[in-house]
Amino acid sequence: MLNIVLFGPPGAGKGTQSEMLISQYQLVHLATGDIFRYNIKNGTELGKLAQQYMDKGQLVPDEVTIKMLNAEVEKRPEAKGFIFDGFPRTNPQAEALDALLASKNTSITCMLALEVPEEELKMRLLKRAEVSGRADDANIEVIENRIAVYNNETAPVKSYFDKQDKLSLIDGTGSIESITERLFKAIDAKL
Ligand code: AMP
Repeated sequence: MLNIVLFGPPGAGKGTQSEMLISQYQLVHLATGDIFRYNIKNGTELGKLAQQYMDKGQLVPDEVTIKMLNAEVEKRPEAKGFIFDGFPRTNPQAEALDALLASKNTSITCMLALEVPEEELKMRLLKRAEVSGRADDANIEVIENRIAVYNNETAPVKSYFDKQDKLSLIDGTGSIESITERLFKAIDAKL
């Protein structure tokens, strides 16, 4: 199996680039933010709980997020591989993901970490708010909180995969196509 963690701060282009990778490598896309938003739209208990955190730009608690991710992986026994987008965001989530994949006799192939300067992230997110309808994109204080949460709680996950020799840092600036090319190259080097 080819299992990719597509990593990076909010606004780094994870969603956009996931679309490119799915079609190139026939992967199942699991984006935890999208799954939470789907639950919010449908008024589920999970959605109600997640929304309290998302509106403030905080992380949904690990226990809830890990349980949901495990269930999503279990739903796709036919998958040739997964692209994890927006997960793991903490070291406990990374450990849980490793354990889950190990129980299926597979593992993470690589973590691709998109790097974009903070000022560009803020500009991209405010611009995205015009079309995404996402409340957490429209408010600069929430955006700044999301970036701070990324720096404090999520960025350490890079070291977790670096220790396993699975981390590739990818320049996330420039055209969408040029970033996709960099990602393809990094993946193909691991195949
Ligand atoms: P995203 O769509 O990836 O930008 O995620 C939007 C929001 O969903 C985040 O700001 C968090 O509140 C929540 N979220 C998404 N993925 C996770 C995760 N792996 N762990 C905790 N919270 C998450």
